[in-house]
Amino acid sequence: MITIQSLTKSFGKQEVLKSIDLQVQKGEVVVILGPSGSGKTTLLRCLNFLERPDGGKVSIGDLQVNCKKPSKQEIYDLRKKTAMVFQHYNLFKHKTVLENVMEGLVIVQKQSKLKAREKSVQVLEKVGLAEKLNAYPSQLSGGQQQRVGIARALALEPEVILFDEPTSALDPELVGEVLSVIRKIAKEGITMIVVTHEMNFAMDVSNHVIFMDGGVIVEEGTPTEIFRTPKEERTRQFLKRIT
Ligand code: ADP
Repeated sequence: MITIQSLTKSFGKQEVLKSIDLQVQKGEVVVILGPSGSGKTTLLRCLNFLERPDGGKVSIGDLQVNCKKPSKQEIYDLRKKTAMVFQHYNLFKHKTVLENVMEGLVIVQKQSKLKAREKSVQVLEKVGLAEKLNAYPSQLSGGQQQRVGIARALALEPEVILFDEPTSALDPELVGEVLSVIRKIAKEGITMIVVTHEMNFAMDVSNHVIFMDGGVIVEEGTPTEIFRTPKEERTRQFLKRIT
């Protein structure tokens, strides 16, 4: 469903993505692991042009984009197929929970307020926040704020949800509630790409693990292959450090 071919990205002289090739099947939960600075977030952000790749191709569903010279329409279409969940939630502070989720539906998707509201309430119920529709982000815990972030992504009904370290800004006791929401929506067959350091989550929930280092995919496979029988020395060293 997603094909990335020869994707490259540099910041100044620093080559951050060195010709990445990757395929993701529909319904897969892909976890991207790797040391800090290896290019994980940049790869995720290049998929919806939050970061502009220098070259390569990205296809999602029936849309193929040549990253070197994408048209405005192609970037718009690519963004419609993806939704991002950010490390620091990125909620509108002056809007309520419900308004935060409705925003993209009304402003970007041009849905009626009535329809947007109905959908937003439905996804907020799904993430366990039916009681908080009218609360403001500052009145919520970090875990609740991130669940709003997830509801906002779900409401857009994207073809893929991109999670950028969704639990790394949370206090340890709040990580579980966010992971269990992600687990629940993964079971519904939504395609996801998740940058995370949560090994247990990667082991239980994902069906495809990618290990990146130095701007390349060093190794990929099933969680069992990567965690139990990694082939590459760099993967083994990384896993030794973090487990
Ligand atoms: P990871 O997610 O694996 O920690 P990143 O993709 O965030 O890695 O970053 C990869 C490298 O690119 C890092 O060296 C980082 O400093 C650099 N980088 C990321 N974003 C920018 C930016 N906007 N401008 C300059 N350098 C950046």
